[in-house]
This record gives sequence, structure tokens and C-alpha cells, in this order.
Amino acid sequence: HLSVRLATVADYVPMGSRLADIGTDHAYLPVNLAKRGKIAGGVAGEVVKGPFENAQHEINKEGLSDRITARLANGLQAIEADDHIDTVAIAGMGGTLIAQILTQDFDRLAGVNRLVLQPNVGEKNVRQFLMTHGFQLITEKIVTEDGHDYEILVADRADDPQQYNAEELRFGPYLLAEHNAIFMAKWRRELARTKQVLAQVQSAKEVPAAKVAELTAEIKEIEEVLQ
Ligand code: SAM
Repeated sequence: HLSVRLATVADYVPMGSRLADIGTDHAYLPVNLAKRGKIAGGVAGEVVKGPFENAQHEINKEGLSDRITARLANGLQAIEADDHIDTVAIAGMGGTLIAQILTQDFDRLAGVNRLVLQPNVGEKNVRQFLMTHGFQLITEKIVTEDGHDYEILVADRADDPQQYNAEELRFGPYLLAEHNAIFMAKWRRELARTKQVLAQVQSAKEVPAAKVAELTAEIKEIEEVLQ
């Protein structure tokens, strides 16, 4: 049984695909998808030994070792040409790290048409990566779980991905358009947090003008979206 967060990631893994789940930890995502017959098979990649062993254990326990291979590897290096991977999922890390992983061994994405990414923070870095590396966002979701909000970004290979402006990169073009309650609550919280930071910065002995300007602009941007 997947969490709401991982279930939403799973929703966007195409039927019959070959999935690489990078940073898989317990391999819950690929194991669940394989058990439901949604993926043909794939790879569960982990860079840390403990989580890698968790993944191996889970795959063996569920009798899926013929379809899912656990690999101890850094990022996309878990993908080999023979795997015929067409879909990559990366969930539960910061957006900066996700973008870094995708950029580092970009050539390993040669056969990949779909990315399903779930950054915990720094979503903007992921959108920036996508639009500069030939991937078009096709949808975005925001879900709540245990008091946290999670964004799920889905993108497909495209020759000429749409170029987004700063606001779209920050808030997400689809999430902005949808403007749902979870999105509003997230940005209301972000607004309160940013105002707090600004108050702190302004109470310093020597007020850093550049930082104040940056935070003030950020506050204005969020307020505009919340209107
Ligand atoms: N993907 C799972 C999920 O969403 O529930 C697990 C998320 S867990 C918080 C992040 C995992 O990513 C950790 O197990 C960590 O070891 C792994 N990780 C971090 N950097 C990685 C990298 N460069 N390559 C592969 N795995 C990585």
C-alpha cells in the first residue's frame, strides 16, 4: 500500500513501462507497480548501502527479482542500456539534488520519454531543468500527507518545450492555473514564513539592503498569486 505521495507518483508511470526509480530506498514504488502489473519491470537505484539492501530485501520478499533489479549506484548510473528504461521516477529529495542527478548523467536518459519527479523543496530547479533539457511538463499535482505538501511534476520528452517565466517556474504553470486549496495553503504558509524571515533580517544591527529587497520582492510575488 503506497502513501498518497507515492501513489500519485505511481499514477503517472505509464502502463507497461520499464521504470527506473532513482533513490528508491525500500523500492516500494517499483514493487507496488510490478505487483499491480503496471510496469513490465525495471531498476531500483540507490546510492546508499542500507537503503539498497532494503530495496533488495523488498524485491526478493515479493518475488519480483526477475523483473526488478536493485542497483547500488549514484543517480542515473543505475540505468544500463540493456534495461530499456523508458520512464524515470525520482521522489522524496530536494529539487536541486533531483536536477543535479538528471544533469550529471543526462546521456543515460537516451531512451526515456517520461519523468515523474517529486521534489520535497526547490521545485523551481526541477522545472528549470525540464525546460532546458527537452522535457515538457504535462501535468503537476500537489498533495498533502502528514502535514506536509508535496508537488509531483510529470514531463514528457519534447523537441521544443514551453519556456516558462519566473512566476511559472516558482509556482508551477499547472498548479497556478488550478489554484486549489492545498496550493493556496502552501503559499499562505510560505508567505508567513518569508515575512518572518524579513522581520528577522530587518532587526539586525546592519540591515542587509539586498536581502531585504529580495525578500520584499518574494513577498510581493506570493501576495499577487494569493489574490
Ligand atoms: N524515493 C523514496 C520515496 O520517495 O519514498 C525514498 C526517498 S528517500 C527520502 C531519498 C533516497 O534517495 C535515500 O534513500 C537516499 O539514499 C537516496 N539518494 C540520495 N541521493 C541519491 C543519488 N545521487 N543516487 C541514488 N540515490 C540517492
